Amino acid sequence: MENREIAAVFGEMSNLLKILQEDPKWQFKAAAYDRAKRSIESFPERLEDVARDPHRRLTDIPGIGADLAAKIKELVETGKSQAHQELLAKVPRSLLDLLELQSVGPQKARLFYHRLGITTISELEAAARSHRLRELPGMSAKSEENILKAIATLKRASGRFRLDTAMETAEELSRYIRGLKGVTEVTPAGSLRRGRETVGDLDLLVTGRDLAGLPDDLVRFGGIADVLAKGEDKVSVKLSNGLQVDVRMLPPESYGAALMYFTGSKEHNVALRDRAKRRGWKLSEYGLFEGDKVIAGRTEEEVYERLGLEWIPPELRENLGEIEAAEAGRLPKLVELDDIRGDLQMHTTASDGKASVEEMAAAAKKLGYQYILITDHSKAVTIANGLDEKRARENIHRIHAARKRVKDIKIWAGAEVDILGDGRLDYPDDVLKEFDIVLASVHSRMTQPGEEMTARLLTALRNPYVRILGHPTGRQILRRDPFLFDLDAVMNAAKQLGVILELNGNPERLDLCDRHVKLARDKGLKIVISTDAHHPDHLRFMRYGVMTARRGWMEKKDVINTYPPEKLLASLRKLPA
Ligand SMILES: [Zn+2]
Repeated sequence: MENREIAAVFGEMSNLLKILQEDPKWQFKAAAYDRAKRSIESFPERLEDVARDPHRRLTDIPGIGADLAAKIKELVETGKSQAHQELLAKVPRSLLDLLELQSVGPQKARLFYHRLGITTISELEAAARSHRLRELPGMSAKSEENILKAIATLKRASGRFRLDTAMETAEELSRYIRGLKGVTEVTPAGSLRRGRETVGDLDLLVTGRDLAGLPDDLVRFGGIADVLAKGEDKVSVKLSNGLQVDVRMLPPESYGAALMYFTGSKEHNVALRDRAKRRGWKLSEYGLFEGDKVIAGRTEEEVYERLGLEWIPPELRENLGEIEAAEAGRLPKLVELDDIRGDLQMHTTASDGKASVEEMAAAAKKLGYQYILITDHSKAVTIANGLDEKRARENIHRIHAARKRVKDIKIWAGAEVDILGDGRLDYPDDVLKEFDIVLASVHSRMTQPGEEMTARLLTALRNPYVRILGHPTGRQILRRDPFLFDLDAVMNAAKQLGVILELNGNPERLDLCDRHVKLARDKGLKIVISTDAHHPDHLRFMRYGVMTARRGWMEKKDVINTYPPEKLLASLRKLPA
């Protein structure tokens, strides 16, 4: 059993306790499950290995006491937890689906269930459409509207997985396949390889010598819920997280052509096939052919070269000008993860982060970074324990003190200051001027009409202390649409004022998205790629931000956190004297 499956069981138990509320003590139990879930999600080793190792104790893991350790053991050994099953037996399981909706938490699910007998999303939708929800305490016409919107978003999202889920699953499965007999290469293809923000199915391509035994070995992978098809050269499975994976076994001679074919995009492939046809050739997943003769196919490079093209990075393969650029030898030299020298958005225990300034700095140093910017929330974001002016000043002192303890990395004192409803900032100028770098973001009143939101953002950008605009569109992938506003106007103002736009690399956000990054590039704007880390492990989200920047054609010079520290500071808007 994988860590995420164990974490998911604990998450469900917490939600069930909160929905049932049979005993006032259950709120503490639920909080303990939540804590354990977070701890397990960020635990770097497989819990199953720890549980089976007689020299290790699960209780050494933060948030895991004796009771939870016993439950983990039970899950690892039997695949089930008795306590979980007992809770599940008390309510219809479909009630938990309601929690997938933005704005529906366990309290609301409980309310809908007890007062209206709602047990499924479609029953909830019917109740919202017939205006029965607004009669309930704490509900209004507006909340009905929000629920209908959330249902629509969820329907659009169903069957799609976030980039990080797909990536982690692909890496786990690839590791397993690499260990099997005869395998020499495993590569994820499809939209994952192109770095798209969501992925439908996962395509894994495998090559090697004598893969006859592979299908049988493959279906023994632990995370499989269902084997959909098992042939000689293709195995399709559904994993326990719902993701479908197609594993294809290919001969080495056509591996490159197959990789191109299954990486896509469809539009890119169609354009390449036309190009081959114009030269009297045929391009397919089996190779580039002149008549019956294969003229290229072993590697992608070889196929592109025969077609008169530079090799095109997968992130660009959308037929949006990359083929023309490759023909002219003018492909951008895309930014790489190794180019990144620092991270300019992260939170600490001062607001809603899980680690101290020192811990974040030490983790950043391990990644080879030269600088970080600590950006705890401001007071308006009460749910994130935002800092008032006094606590913000204390936090600056704390950051300065940390500089003495963690050497060889610059620790800048910043803040993620909330942009209030009218565009004013959540701190007065005399506090703002004490930070090294101020990042401003919207976290409230996200459903404002477009003109109001545009005016709000433009007002915020005009504040001379704002140097970075955080997660500019506010969207959350598969959960929340971007705010309505005139992005073009905001980008133009940012360019004119010298405000840098953030590409938030948290895989829940990826905001700006790839298209917007490309727009920024076309306007000559520079960006910063940040992780918005709330835990040292989250610093690793940088890879997703970099993939998105690459999809937006960004080069190293376009991304300010590839610069050395002095150059980065010099590239930011000048502060008032
Ligand atoms: Zn934020």
